[in-house]
Amino acid sequence: MLISFRELLEERRTARAAAGAFTCYDVTTALGVVRAAEARGVPVILLVSEASFRAPDARLLVPALVSVAEAARVPACVQIDHVSDPELVRAALVSGAGAVLADGSRLPVDENAALVRDAVVAAPPDFGVEAELGHIEGGEDVAAAVAAGALTDPDEAAEFAVRTGAGCLAISIGNVHGTYVAPPQLDWQRLEQIRESVGDLPLSLHGASGLEGEDLRRSIALGICKVNVNTELRRRYLDELSARVPDVLPGLRLLDLQDALVGAVADAAGEILDVLGA
Ligand SMILES: [Zn+2]
Repeated sequence: MLISFRELLEERRTARAAAGAFTCYDVTTALGVVRAAEARGVPVILLVSEASFRAPDARLLVPALVSVAEAARVPACVQIDHVSDPELVRAALVSGAGAVLADGSRLPVDENAALVRDAVVAAPPDFGVEAELGHIEGGEDVAAAVAAGALTDPDEAAEFAVRTGAGCLAISIGNVHGTYVAPPQLDWQRLEQIRESVGDLPLSLHGASGLEGEDLRRSIALGICKVNVNTELRRRYLDELSARVPDVLPGLRLLDLQDALVGAVADAAGEILDVLGA
């Protein structure tokens, strides 16, 4: 069933848990993610990557994922992830999705705040706008090893939250998208300071694929209530695909392949949801 981004995050925060937000490049992935969430009775966020949303054909994925979320037996929300172009942000507001990450993290802070504020003001009722302050390095769609970007400043975060009215803030505390060049060193003190400075504003942690379960649990204890996952699902999807293709080629059993992929994604998403808490 569909739920608003705000309600979903509020429910997870109250439960002292975090919502899993998983990038879905196709319906097969979304079905696997929802299966994992249903098995655990937890809400879930289906993410559409910026690259998918930018391409007119690939954008058709949004209504498909909304259908999957509607049919889910757990509360679910579709979010357009990391959109920086103001025109695309406006398109996201009317796309049928329930939320967008208006990502101005590469811009000077005033321009970042304006991008987010404009989205908040123009958003339909109950539409969620996430912002990013500091910059999380690494691309969403291709895994590469990168070092951490500019870290989020706690005082700036407090002011930014008030100025923008964002419904969630993605923070940079040593986390990256893709693969970590060295074992990740998360700045826990910074997370605590950000948590204190922004009050009840939901915080999100991107780049969870390379983080240990212990780090994820600690980040949730310190106030993270949304965790974005992409790389690990892609890895498991492609591993399963390469392993299964030789079996299904005789007989061209595409449905068997899809079943196997849904199962592999459900296993991968389930392992992460178990860490994020019930
Ligand atoms: Zn991200």
